[in-house]
Amino acid sequence: MATKKKNNTIKLNFDTVRNYAPALESKSAATIKPQYDLFINGKFEKPLSKKYFSTINPSNEEKLSEVAEANTADVNRAVKAARSAYEKVWKKMAAKERAKYIFRIARIIQEKARELSIIETLDGGKPIRESRDFDIPAAANHFFYYAGWADKLEYAFPNRNANPLGVAGQIIPWNFPLLMAAWKIAPALATGNTVVLKSAETTPLTALKLAEIIQEADLPAGVVNIITGGGETGAALVNHTDINKIAFTGSTEVGKIIQKATAGTNKKLTLELGGKAANIIFEDAALDEAVEGVINGIYFNQGQVCCAGSRLYIQESVAKEVIKKLKDRLESLIVGDPLDKNTDVGAINSRQQLETIQKYLKIGQQEGAEKYESSCALPQKGFWCRPTLFTNVAQSNRIAQEEIFGPVLAILTFRTDDEIIEKANNSPYGLSAGVWTDKGSKIFNMTKRLKAGVVWANTFNKFDPTAPFGGYKESGYGREGGLHGLMPYVNLSNK
Ligand code: NAP
Ligand code: MG
Repeated sequence: MATKKKNNTIKLNFDTVRNYAPALESKSAATIKPQYDLFINGKFEKPLSKKYFSTINPSNEEKLSEVAEANTADVNRAVKAARSAYEKVWKKMAAKERAKYIFRIARIIQEKARELSIIETLDGGKPIRESRDFDIPAAANHFFYYAGWADKLEYAFPNRNANPLGVAGQIIPWNFPLLMAAWKIAPALATGNTVVLKSAETTPLTALKLAEIIQEADLPAGVVNIITGGGETGAALVNHTDINKIAFTGSTEVGKIIQKATAGTNKKLTLELGGKAANIIFEDAALDEAVEGVINGIYFNQGQVCCAGSRLYIQESVAKEVIKKLKDRLESLIVGDPLDKNTDVGAINSRQQLETIQKYLKIGQQEGAEKYESSCALPQKGFWCRPTLFTNVAQSNRIAQEEIFGPVLAILTFRTDDEIIEKANNSPYGLSAGVWTDKGSKIFNMTKRLKAGVVWANTFNKFDPTAPFGGYKESGYGREGGLHGLMPYVNLSNK
């Protein structure tokens, strides 16, 4: 892959990198049924709507399965089952017994990790390396972590009683389907709530697999209900009068609709919304590591991550050098079959999302920014976008302000600490940020002043179930993960 040149610098041979022999994960380790019903009251039930819709593999547009479309009557059934399970079983159960069920779910996810990874990659288009090494283990870890809290709430909330809320309605997006389900379901169950979860339209399959796992774990019927459908199904859940809490992860646009719909009701609400993270490289940073962190932050998940490092700020003195390194690295990224273990960048999740990204690629050029894209070949079928970066970007440009949700990086420069704080915080969003520097004092100075829920230092996109995650400003409110993640699911009263 690399050859030594006379002056001792390493030159990458991109053709060799791209010509790695395929290392395909086998589809045969995954079972996908041709049709899935709604998981209500512990059973798979035919939808009252009588309607089904297809879910496809975005890397080749082949149909994988069809899933039920829940209408308002189906949502009513699911909420009724959750209410009954809450009143009759779950809220009365000893916390240590609840914990056993959650541990069991975690262990079965681990046992089925390979199958779940394959299905996540087929349904959503992300590289198998991501599903296998991040999404699925992280989903199991969330269940393990919150199982541990279930019988220790008195230590989580000293001198207070932590009472469950009742029925939680949970709505998740398509970019981390199983992980988002775990983020939502695990803390709700640990605190004694029951759940109706709606998965995203383009990626319903791992949530339905989770329903099978929940059945296998023998969770009492109705404690978790998993329904599929589009935006209208989500809206029916949000507007249901017998729901005590809505947990939503998705776009800021839909988050605002939900905030309006729940205003003036007794429903508790948490919103995990969009982002436009500033990734900041100072001149004293270890530049090769920083470049790798930038690549990881924006390209490895096709940029389809709420906390993706989509705005890169480089200190002026090293900008030229970093941009050169980034362009070289862009060329070496392997774009292609998500099931191939060599693949770095997979497919875009849907045609609609690809069109949004393409719209922004045009806007960037119209605004006068300079576009540079990888020269890689793209597959004929499916939804694909070359890893792209823009230089000569102005702070006011739409590509620097709006969430693109694709493998597109906007690069800007800065000179001083005050200037970078001003620029990084000049965004309607505030979900995450990254700082690359050799100086610990600079890291502390930056983390204090950056208005972002998470600030990574000399790394990017790292997650752990013990660490809370959530945003400022239009990135939403409330926290998921860690001890903080229990709070949105309890009412606290004095002992
Ligand atoms: P989305 O369009 O807002 O959809 C999110 C979920 O809401 C989906 O299940 C969707 O159903 C449903 N929905 C759509 N309209 C609704 C309505 N009126 N009422 C209730 N539910 C409704 O977002 P997305 O395109 O799936 O996901 C991408 C967005 O999620 C990005 O903005 C990203 O930043 C954000 N995100 C945030 C976080 C975080 O933690 N902050 C994490 C991941 C993603 P359909 O799928 O059927 O449309
Ligand atoms: Mg799909």
